[in-house]
Amino acid sequence: MKIENKIEEFESLGDDHIGTSSNTPLRGDAFKLSNDEKIEIIKDDVRHIMETLGLDLTDDSLSGTPNRVAKMFVKEIFGGLDPKKKPSASTFENKYKYGEMLVEKNITVYSTCEHHLLPIVGKAHIAYISNGTVVGLSKMNRIVDYFAKRPQVQERLTIQIVKELQKVLNTQDVACVVDAKHLCVNSRGIRDIESSTVTSEFGGKFKDDATRREFLDYIKLDTKF
Ligand SMILES: [Zn+2]
Repeated sequence: MKIENKIEEFESLGDDHIGTSSNTPLRGDAFKLSNDEKIEIIKDDVRHIMETLGLDLTDDSLSGTPNRVAKMFVKEIFGGLDPKKKPSASTFENKYKYGEMLVEKNITVYSTCEHHLLPIVGKAHIAYISNGTVVGLSKMNRIVDYFAKRPQVQERLTIQIVKELQKVLNTQDVACVVDAKHLCVNSRGIRDIESSTVTSEFGGKFKDDATRREFLDYIKLDTKF
């Protein structure tokens, strides 16, 4: 394939928000540099972008921005690239012998579109059927947050959440639905403020119609507290 065609293909892949793999595409040397070294380099990159745009970085309001953005990239919004940040896999024995579905819904998702580096904001709903192992409820929020804090594609985020919980819970019976707004769609390009994107991944028993239907009905429940 000619190189121009390749570039065109990659660009349309990005525009259509299609990811290429369920693993985050990281290079083998991704963690050779320390976080502090990364912050120093990114700081210069952000300064370069701002200066190229013609901004005056001696202005008090702008002078701290390169450092602030670099720290935010490395430690916060892309902090989930670091495998050391993965929530520990503490699980418990299912003492109540609760064999029904457990649903944790409306988990807040703050992520970043890897094609435009703009926010993805939404909710994740997770369900699993225990085969003897359970996790603390907050663990599910932490797993969502860990995978969300990466440059992401919503489909991949949904699959990564399910795969991690399948591993931790030692069962295939895990499902996740993510409903999120992409600011690259809502605030630029086509500027559709109302639209949101729904992605789902159903493992094990959740591939059965009745089980899947039960999960989706729980998500629809609008309980008043
Ligand atoms: Zn985007």
